[in-house]
Amino acid sequence: MADERYDWASLGIDVTKPSIARTYDVVLRGKDNFEVDRAFVEQIVRVVPEIYDVATYNREILGRGVRYLAGEAGLRQFLDLGSGLPTVQNTHQVAQAVAPESRVVYVDNDPIVLAHGRALLAENDRTTVVTADVRSPEEILADPDVRRLIDFDRPVGVMLVGILHHLHDDEGPQRIVDTLMDAVPSGSHLFVTHFCASSQESRDAEKQYLALLGTGRFRTPEEITAYFDGLELLDPGVVPLPLWRPDAEVATDLSVGQRLMYGGIARKP
Ligand code: SAM
Repeated sequence: MADERYDWASLGIDVTKPSIARTYDVVLRGKDNFEVDRAFVEQIVRVVPEIYDVATYNREILGRGVRYLAGEAGLRQFLDLGSGLPTVQNTHQVAQAVAPESRVVYVDNDPIVLAHGRALLAENDRTTVVTADVRSPEEILADPDVRRLIDFDRPVGVMLVGILHHLHDDEGPQRIVDTLMDAVPSGSHLFVTHFCASSQESRDAEKQYLALLGTGRFRTPEEITAYFDGLELLDPGVVPLPLWRPDAEVATDLSVGQRLMYGGIARKP
């Protein structure tokens, strides 16, 4: 676990409030989190006991999605927004295992991602970490580090995996998606995973997220599908994470945790 006696404040890290990146690190069984983050996750476990599994489903679809994008779709550059703390099988490791020349820019607004991520995520000259807020997509698109690695004349994999449910409606998640997708050429892809209002438990979890973390807008399958408007949604559409092109057969009577997040990938025509 992270050492709470260290002067984290000097890095802009507040250890008195839970952060999205660190609570996600807790459910991924990482070590870059503090007591306040673990206490938050304990509250969520009371509502959705499977929350640790949900994080695993999200990492698994991230792996399957990036393998598809770097493989069949032939993408060689990825903008991974809300990338989180480094964990196993990060986007660049998955993409570069398929195509070593793949370039990845990780973007996150939590300073802990830069503090812990720079060494691990920026491990080669085709990968970097940028601290920026997805609510200012124009700034991200103009960032010199982003433009150094991403050629906006070639198709880009735009990844908003596990982040849009942290944006309130008045923060304009659709505008963010549209701004990013307008900046990339035909053949680019949008990859979204999102907490879904799919059960009473999910609604209770949303309340906990809002009360304790200050963010949380679990959307319906229709609302999540709307992010892909104007794009060609790939099969099987926007579905519970374990059902998106699974590596092995999945039973269709899904649990609450298996239905807690939905995701999909679409191609820009
Ligand atoms: N994409 C990774 C994955 O799915 O495994 C990490 C997802 S994690 C649940 C969400 C990440 O989004 C956190 O690291 C958090 O700091 C980041 N985030 C939340 N709001 C953000 C914002 N407005 N701008 C940039 N990053 C943000």
